[in-house]
Amino acid sequence: MRKAVYPGSFDPITNGHVYIAERSAALFDELVVAVLFNTQKQGTFNIEERKAMAREALIHIPNVHVSSFEGLLVDFMRQERSRIIIRGLRALSDFEYEFQLAQMNRQLAPEIETFFIVTEAQYSYLSSRSVKEVFHFGGSIQGMVPPGVYRRLRERFPPPGLDMR
Ligand code: ADP
Repeated sequence: MRKAVYPGSFDPITNGHVYIAERSAALFDELVVAVLFNTQKQGTFNIEERKAMAREALIHIPNVHVSSFEGLLVDFMRQERSRIIIRGLRALSDFEYEFQLAQMNRQLAPEIETFFIVTEAQYSYLSSRSVKEVFHFGGSIQGMVPPGVYRRLRERFPPPGLDMR
């Protein structure tokens, strides 16, 4: 039984994240999408909202489940009895940060391996942050986020003049 963990902020989940989850779920028996609960960083959506959006977006993948964790990833990995961390790579700019993170985790837990999955070209410019920014300034985020995320973004940041009641 091969179980992998895909950790991240997922604030909110984008179609780029969904792509990485689909690719990794096809390779492993079970995939845990783990939303990092960071007490230092508030974020746009709270942990329950992020998990709900991720669950909805990944409902079509039967061997995925969504969870959350606080503190060190390696502790969560041990608790989940998984030795495989999945991370997504968009561009060279991701590499440095990801490399550092993977090296640190290797130091902390040598038995754990980090796997990188390269994104699809159409998602290579997508991040949770850029999606929120584009949306905030009234740009189209069509094809960038799952429908449930779009709905919540509209609830959170209603366009001027729109009565959301
Ligand atoms: P973190 O704060 O841990 O970087 P994110 O939610 O931003 O969390 O990202 C989680 C992982 O998903 C990271 O490995 C990131 O590089 C990857 N990722 C984010 N957006 C995309 C995308 N559009 N395509 C592929 N991977 C992505």
